[in-house]
Amino acid sequence: MTIKCKKCNHEAIIFQKYSGMHLCKKHFIEDVERKIKLTVRKDYSIRKNDVIAVALSGGKDSSVALYVMHKILGNRPDIQIVAVSIDEGIHGYRPHSLELAKKLTETLGVRHIIKSFKDEHGVTMDDLAAMDREKGACSYCGVLRKSILNRMALEIGATKLVTGHNLDDEAQTVLLNHFRGDMERMVRLAPPVAVEGLVLRAKPLRNIPEKEVALYALVNSLPVDFSECPYAGEALRGEIRELLNNFETNHPGTKYSLLRGFDKLVGALAKELPPAKIEKCRICGNTCTEDICQACKLLGRT
Ligand code: SF4
Repeated sequence: MTIKCKKCNHEAIIFQKYSGMHLCKKHFIEDVERKIKLTVRKDYSIRKNDVIAVALSGGKDSSVALYVMHKILGNRPDIQIVAVSIDEGIHGYRPHSLELAKKLTETLGVRHIIKSFKDEHGVTMDDLAAMDREKGACSYCGVLRKSILNRMALEIGATKLVTGHNLDDEAQTVLLNHFRGDMERMVRLAPPVAVEGLVLRAKPLRNIPEKEVALYALVNSLPVDFSECPYAGEALRGEIRELLNNFETNHPGTKYSLLRGFDKLVGALAKELPPAKIEKCRICGNTCTEDICQACKLLGRT
């Protein structure tokens, strides 16, 4: 038996357990884009002459972020959208996703800039992964990538740096910070305030469940890499992902509730934990909160 869309007579392609709605392709796309527009309007108000850098890996999340930002803002002559990608140097994984990223930017007619760990930091992720390390590979990758992305965004005069974090990422991070008792990091999850030297981060997909991001990419036939990085697998995050997915199955809406609770709490938390003093790294000059930035520390530059 065909299940009909809640809003029209067409065949449904998804059942949103948390909303109780079956949706057809058209109404699913509308629902995703409506939520993204609301998030952008509420948390990251777009201003005249904004230059929006979109961090693009070629995976589903960042590709959907670029596609939707371009769809909702691409016809505004006063707004520039630029895709920025990082080649971390991960053999057998990153070259393919970068190819797909190029394909998407060419289709959309969006300027695309690519920089590499090798050129910017003198090492590849494969080099770092093979070394004796104190931390997981993703800790190195995340810190180095953030520092290059921020620099690239500054270089092109970006006023916002969009990332593809989805609802699952955000809910996992909220829970992860609770489990670690890391409230300083928790506060940093809030919609950001302007700080000189750091481009404002924006997460337009923070209210879209990961499965819906994947489905949105599929129904729009976006060129997207669905493979997984060989270094993926932060142990605690993996456990939290499983736990949250089980909760979501048994109690639909759990991920949204977790994020809504965090959004209500974060203002009060920020008053208790004011932001750290902003400094310039004495090695590389990047903006950071200590004498030496995280990237220089991880690379052993002293
Ligand atoms: Fe980098 Fe980890 Fe992501 Fe791989 S999974 S690209 S190592 S952050």
